[in-house]
This record gives sequence, C-alpha cells and structure tokens, in this order.
Amino acid sequence: MTSLCPVCNGLENITKTCPQCRAASEDLGRMSDWFGPYSPYREIDDLKMTNGCLDRTNHTCIHMCQCTVCGLNFLCEIEEWQSHEFR
Ligand SMILES: [Zn+2]
Ligand SMILES: [Zn+2]
Repeated sequence: MTSLCPVCNGLENITKTCPQCRAASEDLGRMSDWFGPYSPYREIDDLKMTNGCLDRTNHTCIHMCQCTVCGLNFLCEIEEWQSHEFR
C-alpha cells in the first residue's frame, strides 16, 4: 500500500500552531530534506537518527515548521494518506 503526505503534495496546509506562542506556522519542507547526510544541522543528531525508520513505519511525514510570529522552528508530524482514500 502506498501512502503520501498531503502537505508534500500540496493537498493540505500545515495546521499546527506554534508550541511557544500558539500562532500559525508555515511549512519549511520535509525534515528529511533538512536533515540529509550533508545537512549542516548536526546539532539535532538525535532526531536525525530516528528519521527514515520513524516516518516509514508510522506512515507519517515529519515536516519542519516555522512560526510566523516568533520564528521558532519545530517539527510537525503529518499523517500520510493511504492510497485507498484517493479513489
Ligand atoms: Zn510531507
Ligand atoms: Zn511562535
């Protein structure tokens, strides 16, 4: 069964609000795009280690979000849609 992330595919917008100030956030892209093998974001190594396994098994896509007000970066787990929901 295939699954796809509605945010990656432009079907849905990030609805997550900032954990710090509750303002709206915007999507900065998939975490795997941010935490690739040559990523400069080495300080978040713990999260990087779980990437790949985590989003495949849970059918979620982890996105990096940024608060539009305070600028906080945080991770948001997007539930992927399964293929049978698309017919
Ligand atoms: Zn995604
Ligand atoms: Zn904020």
